[in-house]
Amino acid sequence: MPHRHAESVTRRHFLKRSLATGIAIGGLTGCAATPASVGAPQAARTQPRPRLIDTPPAPHPNRSIPDLGDERVQRFTAGVRPVRRHGVRLAVDRGDSDTPVVHNYGHGGAGITLSWGSAEEAADLIETVANRGSEVVVLGAGIIGLTSAVILRERGYGVRVMADQLPPHTTSNVAGGQFAPSLVGRGRTTREKQRFTRMLRRSHLRLSRIAGWEWGVSEIDNFTTGSGSGLSLIPEGLFAKPVKLDRLPFAGVERSGYLYRTYLVEPPVHLPRLIHELNRVGVPISEQRFEDRDQVRAIGAAAVVNCTGMGARELFKDRTVIPTRGQLVHVEPQEISYLLSHSGYLFSRRDAIVLGGSVERGEAEATVDPGRCLEILSRHRRFFRS
Ligand SMILES: Cc1cc2nc3c(=O)[nH]c(=O)nc-3n(C[C@H](O)[C@H](O)[C@H](O)COP(=O)(O)OP(=O)(O)OC[C@H]3O[C@@H](n4cnc5c(N)ncnc54)[C@H](O)[C@@H]3O)c2cc1C
Repeated sequence: MPHRHAESVTRRHFLKRSLATGIAIGGLTGCAATPASVGAPQAARTQPRPRLIDTPPAPHPNRSIPDLGDERVQRFTAGVRPVRRHGVRLAVDRGDSDTPVVHNYGHGGAGITLSWGSAEEAADLIETVANRGSEVVVLGAGIIGLTSAVILRERGYGVRVMADQLPPHTTSNVAGGQFAPSLVGRGRTTREKQRFTRMLRRSHLRLSRIAGWEWGVSEIDNFTTGSGSGLSLIPEGLFAKPVKLDRLPFAGVERSGYLYRTYLVEPPVHLPRLIHELNRVGVPISEQRFEDRDQVRAIGAAAVVNCTGMGARELFKDRTVIPTRGQLVHVEPQEISYLLSHSGYLFSRRDAIVLGGSVERGEAEATVDPGRCLEILSRHRRFFRS
């Protein structure tokens, strides 16, 4: 399967050859571990307002520069973003069957960012076709499927998750994890654009409630040389205005830029935590591949939420989903407490410093391109030497 899981190549394999040449959920924190406790919308409503990331970052002295030497490189990896021409598909599809399908796919390079908000929107749609208490099957166990399952369970549905591949073998496991609406359509109509903004707000709200070590969600400084990364799409009030810096705070780097605070969501922590939480409330998760709509129809649930990401292109014959591959280089984790975007990006996570920046439109195979990975590595080395 082309996009089923990202391929990784060990440092030893490629660097030898190539370099020589070249869970407590937000509203649920502290709740009893019973399925009933998952349906906690009231609890969520009575919670204090979330803390906005509203403190303008203070000017900083020079920050540490990562060691990106050959011996620090852990591995190369790649994944395929499900970019959809007109943005995320969130719609009820009744087809010619008794089982309505709510689509929730096409999050492009922003699935981690939009996940919680998108899951809320999908659950709103489910409420129009299935009564609370009935059984809903979630197809897909990436970030979109798992967050959808959590939200539906909280709203009182019986939930089952079924997926061809489970973490750690999903695209969501490959993602860097920055909260940024990049490489994703906002939609065409005013309604779709408003929904996009609402998704960002809803995601941000949830992340602000669960932020912490256990969920792998942290508030972090983000230095950028431009105002890219979809910054202009972030609705007002979520982050303090970016601060313009005449010089980025890295010794030897003479470049201007911006600084703002954002969230980093670490997939290697966040995804297992979601699964833990679903296990805790008794949501079964099973491996099963669906070949066509008939098989989906035969599930026999009150409704299905389709969170199959790239898989929707075949399963629901949606040719507007464009595979868009990205390469990543993992470098050993170091004491670096920021994100950086320039001609590439650097995310400092607890498992690795993740370097990225490739956008390969039309590439559906999650295969590593060592040439591009080496190029990403050199771009970052050049940046810090500049
Ligand atoms: C290099 C890279 C960096 C990224 N960085 C970021 C970032 O920093 N921030 C951000 O917000 N996003 C980022 N993304 C985007 C993010 O990874 C995706 O938007 C997100 O993973 C999509 O999630 P998903 O759950 O829809 O898809 P997936 O994670 O692919 O999950 C799909 C699920 O559906 C299942 N499935 C598919 N077909 C079938 C079928 N026929 N039958 C049964 N099950 C099926 C799969 O097995 C899987 O369980 C990045 C992506 C890449 C590739």
